[in-house]
Amino acid sequence: MVSRVIPVDPFDLVIFGGTGDLARRKILPGLYRRFVAGQMPEDARIIGAARGEMDQAGYQAFVGEAIAEFISEKKRDAETVAAFLERLNYTPIDARGEGGWDALAKMVRKEAITAFYFSVGPGLFGDIATRLHKHKIATPESRIVVEKPFGRDLESAKALNAVLAESFDEHQIYRIDHYLGKETVQNLMAVRFANVLFEPLWNAQYIDHVQITVAETVSVGGRGGYYDKSGAMRDMIQNHLMQLLCLTAMEPPSKFDPDAVRDEKLKVIRALDAVPTENIVRGQYGADGDGPSYVEDSEDPESRTESFIAMKVDISNWRWKGTPFYLRTGKRLKARMSEIVVHFKETPHSIFDEDAGSHANILSIRLQPDEGMDLRVTIKEPGPGGMRLVDVPLDMTFADALGPEAADVPDAYERLIMDVIRGNQTLFMRGDEVEAAWAWTDPIIEGWITRGDKPKTYDPGSSGPEDALMLLHRDGRRWREISA
Ligand code: NAP
Repeated sequence: MVSRVIPVDPFDLVIFGGTGDLARRKILPGLYRRFVAGQMPEDARIIGAARGEMDQAGYQAFVGEAIAEFISEKKRDAETVAAFLERLNYTPIDARGEGGWDALAKMVRKEAITAFYFSVGPGLFGDIATRLHKHKIATPESRIVVEKPFGRDLESAKALNAVLAESFDEHQIYRIDHYLGKETVQNLMAVRFANVLFEPLWNAQYIDHVQITVAETVSVGGRGGYYDKSGAMRDMIQNHLMQLLCLTAMEPPSKFDPDAVRDEKLKVIRALDAVPTENIVRGQYGADGDGPSYVEDSEDPESRTESFIAMKVDISNWRWKGTPFYLRTGKRLKARMSEIVVHFKETPHSIFDEDAGSHANILSIRLQPDEGMDLRVTIKEPGPGGMRLVDVPLDMTFADALGPEAADVPDAYERLIMDVIRGNQTLFMRGDEVEAAWAWTDPIIEGWITRGDKPKTYDPGSSGPEDALMLLHRDGRRWREISA
């Protein structure tokens, strides 16, 4: 495979929260990898900003440690790391105070592309946007990158959109959902819209149902206080799983450009039916020898926040009427696995005898742990013994088909940051999209609160509460096994 790294234009990237966990684990190592790949021009610069007092050398040492921790040894010789660190600077700033902004203004070049990454708690997004504008640090072409969570309900999301809009145009705002930066998610669009094979079948006539699972093995331990105010519905369904559903269900956009794609996603969200109570299962993990229960982690023995949710979602439009989308996500489950699985219908009539069994094609799109796709097709089992049918995978794992270099794809964050520099918003959420997602989510959460619904306890290391299995069983279907 030929490497096609196209260098971006000179830029100054300011990372607010440049000493935080996300910057340390994802953003800075990601930038380093883009530097190694040759995508960063000579004079690209990265400026960390946070309240802590630190000078340039101190920040370079901090980032050097992050690289040593998160980049494999074979990709970080001392010379390359030193060349990367040369580009780093730091300035102390309190997002809520007025000090430090003029110093930042002097550091940022007006002639380069300027991008400001808000890698701080959501309570500071508005403060930073307002001060960047007030202190004339941002230009009309500057970009801001806003982390999740984008609001906690429709009202707060609208308020945040309004505050950002006072200082920035929509074309400058990059609301990040790192799931959209995953290689396979983009491949889903390529498979759907660059092949003639799937699109004619991509509807309720040929697809029986779709399953989207994001399973984690980790608990909320350590961030139980934050999570308890959020829960799986706000933390995962409203954004990540919603985005995956949209890309699976949307109509073909007229072109692969930001507004065309986002218009189509928005139409899907607006076509989602309200979800009746009987189509939702909420859960909380119990305790086991390996760790405490959810309520112990959350430190609220009365907590009714869900660490697991499974739901059946119907889309009211011509393409999908009658084809449910089952969504499932949770903590402390059996394995870490994210996938979209499209279950096609069985053939309308089988010409083979009953012994051949029933078969259906399945397209699975794995986001983690190993990104890739496979399509299960039914063939004759080789050899004598009559017409015995068997399902085999047509494996579309990138590394096998395109060589080992293809397995070395950019991490979602690094790809998305480069999209920000290139000024491409296709893989970022638009304000109206986020609001529409909250407008669908809010009544569901309000219903739980009004009724005082309690989540079901599930065993750590399981697939979630029994009732989640029943959600599909009662429709004559089964969840795919959660496995790594
Ligand atoms: P974190 O580890 O708590 O880091 C917060 C950063 O913000 C620190 O650098 C902190 O440094 C700085 N900060 C705090 N108050 C500030 C202020 N008033 N003015 C300027 N800087 C301030 O948080 P994080 O985990 O990196 O998360 C950052 C954002 O990314 C959050 O919105 C989070 O929801 C989102 N996110 C994080 C992850 C992740 O894996 N960590 C994943 C998805 C989304 P000082 O205290 O020195 O100021």
